[in-house]
Amino acid sequence: MKDQSPNSWEARADAHSFYGFTDLPTIENRGATVLTHGRGPYVFDVHGRQFLDANSGLWNMVAGFDHAGLAQAAKDQYDRFPGYHAFFGRMSDQTVMLSEKLVEVSPFESGKVFYTNSGSEANDTMVKMLWFLHGSEGHDQRRKIITRKNAYHGVTAVSASMTGKPYNSVFGLPLPGFLHLTCPHYWREGQPGETEAQFTARLAAELEEMILREGADTIAGFFAEPVLGAGGVIPPPEGYFQALQPILQKYGIPLISDEVICGFGRTGHTWGCEAYGFVPDAIISSKNLTAGYFPMGAVILGPQLTQRLQAASEAIEEFPHGFTASGHPVGSAIALKAIDVIMNEGLAENVRRLTPYFEAHMQRLLENPNIGEARGKGLMGALEAVQDKGSKTPFAAELSVSERIANTCTDHGLICRPLGQSIVLCPAFIFTESHIDEMFEKLEAALKQVFREVA
Ligand code: PMP
Repeated sequence: MKDQSPNSWEARADAHSFYGFTDLPTIENRGATVLTHGRGPYVFDVHGRQFLDANSGLWNMVAGFDHAGLAQAAKDQYDRFPGYHAFFGRMSDQTVMLSEKLVEVSPFESGKVFYTNSGSEANDTMVKMLWFLHGSEGHDQRRKIITRKNAYHGVTAVSASMTGKPYNSVFGLPLPGFLHLTCPHYWREGQPGETEAQFTARLAAELEEMILREGADTIAGFFAEPVLGAGGVIPPPEGYFQALQPILQKYGIPLISDEVICGFGRTGHTWGCEAYGFVPDAIISSKNLTAGYFPMGAVILGPQLTQRLQAASEAIEEFPHGFTASGHPVGSAIALKAIDVIMNEGLAENVRRLTPYFEAHMQRLLENPNIGEARGKGLMGALEAVQDKGSKTPFAAELSVSERIANTCTDHGLICRPLGQSIVLCPAFIFTESHIDEMFEKLEAALKQVFREVA
């Protein structure tokens, strides 16, 4: 499998590049996959091998890897005005239009947008906005941030602190004041005999207890992904946001919806909050915002936070924050095109159309004795591998079952992602029924092979 020659792409990748979130022993054995190009939802490596990418890159390449309109929007804007910032009261016309569009498609009647280069930075920015406006309003002590275990909000020091994953302890994170509630995963976290509604009520009570224990006047905000993505595609239990939001409102704690994955169509709705029937105080967007064609993130503030941030900024004459490439004109032009492609050229519609077909395949795999749960929303799903279905006992960690499944899929030309003991699927919005068939055929073959090996 691995090309051992020192001049191979694999060896050259190893020699001079670091990988993010990569199991190094696997790469040691198998070598890196060095890619050259893509077509539709497929990517191709330096050896000419073709892979169906069931993860649409990192959830984001939703229009596929060769969308002519997106490439053209980028080229046109590079020709016209290839770069600028959004500091000192200056910004590109594309950025102005993008903000208008984002507020228009947001669930807010009015609002304002702040741009970043990534989802992590957008979460960081939101936290700084909250600290800034609470401080300006005389509540310096309102600094704690509440999120959930298993949540993923990014990798900068603040967004990694918000992320509820144990691996961040290697960095000495979370920073003090970042608090994590129970992961809202009914199948794993529900107690024996507890109904889904009772589970939701318990999580709501846990939130209120945490607020009272910490002191409501020390909490800056609550952040949640509508569906936890990198935590393993975990939709909330019934009535979750309806139970939590009134508690947050009671104590004056803003609810921020991290829509980096859910936003722009993944759930079949424009926003995940729309899919679950709540209106947050602000939205964090990235990934699909540019269909992955440009690194860009956005904080979209609803009317109240807009007004409060405006007042806080006016009090000291500025909001002292921003990135060199905030509101990049090319990113803005691409985002405008991506939003149009997703919302008006049938991509979101295709998600809605394909979801029942995708779900039917997921449910069928539940017949496998080693698949404990098949969960998801729209075009994102996870299949959780278990050694024993009745007791939900996971496989021993050292068997690396989900990694083996994903590696076997790669050998058969399918890229999918192991997350904990789950296999995650989040195909591009341009998938057809035949792509779904190909994805599940390859995955099923890999499941059979690996479960036979570890039985
Ligand atoms: N929030 C969520 C919900 C995410 O899924 C991610 C990335 N997977 C981030 C934030 C961080 O985004 P980025 O990798 O662009 O920094």
